[in-house]
Amino acid sequence: MSDNKSDASISISNPSLPLSTQPDQTPGLADLSDRDQFWDKHRNNADRVSDHYARSRYQKYAYRINDCSQMLDFRLVPEQSDGVYKLKLSSAKFCRTRFCPVCQWRRSLMWKAKAYQALPKVVQDYPKHRWLFLTLTVKNCPVDELRKTLDWMNKSFIRLTKLKDWPGVGWIKSVEVTRGRDGNAHPHIHTLLMVAPGYFGPNYLSQERWNELWQQSARLDYKPVTHVRAIAKEHNPCVIIPEILKYQVKESDLIANREWFLELTKQLHKTRAVAVGGVLRSYMADLEREPEDLVGEDSKGEVDEGHLYFAWKREHKKYKLIDP
Ligand SMILES: [Zn+2]
Repeated sequence: MSDNKSDASISISNPSLPLSTQPDQTPGLADLSDRDQFWDKHRNNADRVSDHYARSRYQKYAYRINDCSQMLDFRLVPEQSDGVYKLKLSSAKFCRTRFCPVCQWRRSLMWKAKAYQALPKVVQDYPKHRWLFLTLTVKNCPVDELRKTLDWMNKSFIRLTKLKDWPGVGWIKSVEVTRGRDGNAHPHIHTLLMVAPGYFGPNYLSQERWNELWQQSARLDYKPVTHVRAIAKEHNPCVIIPEILKYQVKESDLIANREWFLELTKQLHKTRAVAVGGVLRSYMADLEREPEDLVGEDSKGEVDEGHLYFAWKREHKKYKLIDP
């Protein structure tokens, strides 16, 4: 007993042991930069998603996700106060696999940045228009019927936009899928909807009326659930952007069940996550495309006073500082 105990303490403190068996004192990315603390979580989930793909028909995704963002290159940018630096991502190699948690997160950041840039221009051009956050749902479906269900929901949405009562003059629409406790899929549509000022007057639609319009468009034999929320006049529609341009499937659902996830991959192959309609198309149609750049503004401009490199250490579930 006591031998075992002393063995353990020796292996921790013995300086003659190779470095790899020493406790790791190297600073992690999250220790050095508050704003970069999310990297560890996403990269750790990427390992789990990669494991799901291993030895499946999507083996190639397992390799790609495994190689994704293994090394992060950050610039040191001085802050105003002396001796304080901020880390800004300079470069990284991303795999761009649809359900890679790191790439899904980066893609959402890039989309959000684009929308934050474009929406104020729309508000400037249409100062009296109002904004709604509309969610459309249908009953859960088996995951192997997801593709068919989404296809039908998207067609139903187009029918909805053609109804006489449809108040939207522009919209950003995204599709989200969550996993029900029973393993069924719960697909729903989130929409940021721009409406003419008359909506809060003669053209107002009650929640009940929205339910009816969605039921009619989707040709359902039951009352579906919709949620509609008006964005207060004094608020900018940007407040809703995080709800609309987030992940398509949240990370906890990606990693929960391997079989479900493999079927989800098959079902969502080449389906579109984001669509832009009406007058908003001329402001931000590029939201419909995969962002070319997943690094973002951080890599541009400003002086840097050196670089720090961090490598993913799977065994520690952390990005650690390295000397390249
Ligand atoms: Zn990736």
